[in-house]
Amino acid sequence: MAIAKDIYVQHQPEVKRYYYNPAVECISREELLALQWLKLKKLVEHVYHTNKFYRNLFTKNKITPEDIQSLEDYRHKVPIITKQDLLNDQNEYPPYGLRLGIPETKVVHTHMTSGTSGIGQEVYGLTRPDVEYLATWPRAWYAAGIRRGDVVVNPFPMNPVLAAPDSLISGFAKMGVNGFHLGMYPTHQKLDIMRRFKPHFMDISPVYLTRMTVICQEMGIDPKKDYCFKAILTMVGSFEVDWALEMQEFWGCKLHEGYGSTQAGSLMGYTCENGSVPNGQRGRIHLMEDIILFEVLDRETREPVKSGEEGEVVLTTLSRSGSPLLRFAMDDKVRYFSYKECDCGRPFDTIECGTIARYDDMIKIRGMNVWPQAVDSVIFGHKETSEYQGRVYVTEDGREEVLVQVEFKQGIGDQVKGDLINRMAVELKEKVGVSMTLEEAKEELPKFEFKAVRWTDERLKGRQKIAWRL
Ligand SMILES: [Zn+2]
Repeated sequence: MAIAKDIYVQHQPEVKRYYYNPAVECISREELLALQWLKLKKLVEHVYHTNKFYRNLFTKNKITPEDIQSLEDYRHKVPIITKQDLLNDQNEYPPYGLRLGIPETKVVHTHMTSGTSGIGQEVYGLTRPDVEYLATWPRAWYAAGIRRGDVVVNPFPMNPVLAAPDSLISGFAKMGVNGFHLGMYPTHQKLDIMRRFKPHFMDISPVYLTRMTVICQEMGIDPKKDYCFKAILTMVGSFEVDWALEMQEFWGCKLHEGYGSTQAGSLMGYTCENGSVPNGQRGRIHLMEDIILFEVLDRETREPVKSGEEGEVVLTTLSRSGSPLLRFAMDDKVRYFSYKECDCGRPFDTIECGTIARYDDMIKIRGMNVWPQAVDSVIFGHKETSEYQGRVYVTEDGREEVLVQVEFKQGIGDQVKGDLINRMAVELKEKVGVSMTLEEAKEELPKFEFKAVRWTDERLKGRQKIAWRL
């Protein structure tokens, strides 16, 4: 009977049921914490006895599993590990490092990070149960209203060595949706294919959704008539609330957001049925705390932040035997909110939609911490702009300067452009705290299909030149 009911519900989209996995999404906070603790205790004992990397770490810090009798013990006694610790381990014991923790013959798939920090790639070996278990995407899709048989589009360029595309493909199969991977096609061709197959869902970066919107307008496509989207899920990039509302209006569906990483092996956070901007406010991304133990810590004190505060994500993989991670500092900056702050009833704590950033994206200019997201919000806060590029450099006399080239949408008059350039320069000074020179881009600026790379830092080059001249 239970199966028959399930099929009935999945073919009735108007039925309001948004839990893909009620067994964990509907438990109480107390039950969730008890489950986490059971998994954590087992993990600590397991790695102590089978994983030389963690055995060495525990021995160096003079701890044994018996010393960890509570979550508090775990937080206070087990040290935080960083990307560099993992890279050192890999360099010493290539290719997986001692932390693989299983025989290499048990590895059925390998994930590698994209190396955005530019200092090397982390390597993760996964067993077959790991791969099966990590196809966590359907939880996000189901909450967004997607059901078996729906047509879904993935416009990201595919690189299955990264966890996101790899787990996405297995997620499509697990959920039973009709998945189209269109990453290899140019944008206008993607939009054409979509016109033929009428997708219900797409996962996309905010920067590429903006790009698609512009091309749709150029091609005369009205997504509300030509497609039938139920939801669009954004990943890999921050956004402003006004932008999200505008996108919802243009595409005719709710925006959702996911949070994933290669370290976690898949998607690890998702918006519930409330979406990314419920009631015109930033929504919440629920963290899958049954699979991963999340800590959001103050970067300086390493103490947990309070609800509403910003901090760094530190994660422990609770359900993986290949390359497990214990207290890994992600370098992701998030705004944390307690599970109580969302009215959906899920027991999972949350982070704010649209504001996930990376600490290593921060640029220090004239002693000020400048976040590219803050500049994005000023430039894209004006509907007339379409793209920008920022350049930090050192002048002949050794001063640090910032030049921001702004590209405007077609049909904007010179007078409006001039006024906007002046206004945005003032806004940037107010919001970011650094004076920047703004000008209109003389030629078309690069467009992005995945993660935007808008900033170049030429200061080292400039300083070297000055040093040589002296
Ligand atoms: Zn919720």
